[in-house]
Amino acid sequence: MQTIVLGSGSPLPDPSRAGPATLVRTTAGDLLFDCGRGVLMRAAAVGASAGALAALFLTHLHSDHITDLNDIVTSRWVTSFQPSPLSVFGPAGTASVVTAVEAMLELDIGYRLAHHDDLDWRPSTDVVECERGTVFTGADVRVTAAPTDHAPVRPTVGFRVDDGSASVVVAGDTVPCAGLDELCSGADMLVHTVIRRDLIEPLGLARLTDVLDYHSSVEDAARTAARNGVGTLVLTHLVPAPPPGTETEWEALAREHFDGTVVVADDLVTLEVGAAT
Ligand SMILES: [Zn+2]
Ligand SMILES: [Zn+2]
Repeated sequence: MQTIVLGSGSPLPDPSRAGPATLVRTTAGDLLFDCGRGVLMRAAAVGASAGALAALFLTHLHSDHITDLNDIVTSRWVTSFQPSPLSVFGPAGTASVVTAVEAMLELDIGYRLAHHDDLDWRPSTDVVECERGTVFTGADVRVTAAPTDHAPVRPTVGFRVDDGSASVVVAGDTVPCAGLDELCSGADMLVHTVIRRDLIEPLGLARLTDVLDYHSSVEDAARTAARNGVGTLVLTHLVPAPPPGTETEWEALAREHFDGTVVVADDLVTLEVGAAT
């Protein structure tokens, strides 16, 4: 398998970090986890595309994690030469979001259907709302979901990909919790969204300090990785985005609690895990 952090950014626009999105390339195809700002631009850089996705998984429905869902729906539709429903897995509420996105695109869908004679089907999605257990299987690949804790955002889920040779967990936004521990147990890799408590807390600005109570700090993520015997911890969704050259500070904070491999993600960082895809 290959894990590619397509977007290592957060809700705050950043010129060098796209919004949250992680691509896991497997023998069952490309699995995309979250679809934040700029996801398809970053996907294009690694030869991935909306049309070729085997499935899309949403950890939760916060806007920064689904900003470009409409782009995926439209791009998949207009670049396919036969109907190709997009499989979408996410927590309760996902179906209503997808329906609303499709409604938002209604005029565009009409324009394109009227213009292209060979395009006589609408974009379509197969949405499965999930909470726990196996949600996707294909080739030797299994994707499992478990509830996470991002309260007051409810429900939220994390995912684990197993291909028989290795396992990758995509946590999404969450504080440490039992569901995440379940997913992480013995995992080879954990991709975890994090924020720097030590930088945000002193600012004393309520709009920022509010986010501390529903995200993991770097130290929290490191403790989750250590507690569950994870091999590699990938830090992403970096808040605040580290100025170039300061990534080592993030790594050092994680190292205080975790002695495996630590990766502070940049967009398009590509990590091999288990057997080659
Ligand atoms: Zn969130
Ligand atoms: Zn987020």
